[in-house]
Amino acid sequence: IRVHVTPIKNDKTTERGAVAVLRDVTELRRLEQIRTEFVSNVSHELRTPLTSIKGYVETLLDERDCEPGVRERFLQVIKDETDRLERLITDLLNLSQLESASDSFDQELVNLNQVIENVLTTVMPKADNKGIDLKVDVPVDITGIKGSRGQLERLYINLVDNGIKYTSEGGQVKIKVYEDEDRVWSEIIDTGMGIPEEDLPRIFERFYRVDKTRSRKLGGTGLGLSIVKHILERHNGGIEVESKVEEGTKFIFWLPKPK
Ligand code: ADP
Repeated sequence: IRVHVTPIKNDKTTERGAVAVLRDVTELRRLEQIRTEFVSNVSHELRTPLTSIKGYVETLLDERDCEPGVRERFLQVIKDETDRLERLITDLLNLSQLESASDSFDQELVNLNQVIENVLTTVMPKADNKGIDLKVDVPVDITGIKGSRGQLERLYINLVDNGIKYTSEGGQVKIKVYEDEDRVWSEIIDTGMGIPEEDLPRIFERFYRVDKTRSRKLGGTGLGLSIVKHILERHNGGIEVESKVEEGTKFIFWLPKPK
């Protein structure tokens, strides 16, 4: 707590009283700390791929006549790390746009069947690659959602993408959509590795990962779920997660029906 006291004087010498202003700075401190931590996380996340790129480029420059096979492998690493940087920067920009409260977005009545069709086009190759069975259960007449089509697509893509990433070959990822009187509900269910109970409360935090190395190897930025959370906040929705290690994970989210 910060205290600021101003004396009140009758004339130049006699004091009549004082005004004390008490200000709780713990919240400010906390926000400051979150910001500092975020900047340090971002720097670290950007530096990791950059260090690797630099290392491989320097080796290629030093060993100009190395075997074509080796060259090829190094160039592939450089390409992968550049892709990671690109994903990271895209996610950071998305997140910062979503977080700036003043940034209003275009709202339209969005057809969820179309959204999910586009989502499937994006994620199908990854699912096929891993032999993952992608199941969809969406009523054709599901009520549309008032919001941003792009953001709603991103919401489903991030969750389905995680489902595919954290499920081993031959597993299943299911998208289920249904509605009640005032909400449209969606469930993204996978038969993957699951999330330990102690990690569940933190997975929506920026850069929080259950297993850093595994997430990186699978191409994750650690920002997917915080983007999901922000998109839902912007659309007045919400999200919950249920998970069992080695059995699978179920994300359940809701969006309000237009009035
Ligand atoms: P990442 O880019 O690392 O996937 P996210 O923000 O999307 O970042 O997710 C945060 C963490 O939550 C992941 O690193 C992973 O540990 C865990 N996670 C998210 N979705 C799933 C899932 N479907 N199954 C298992 N773990 C998951």
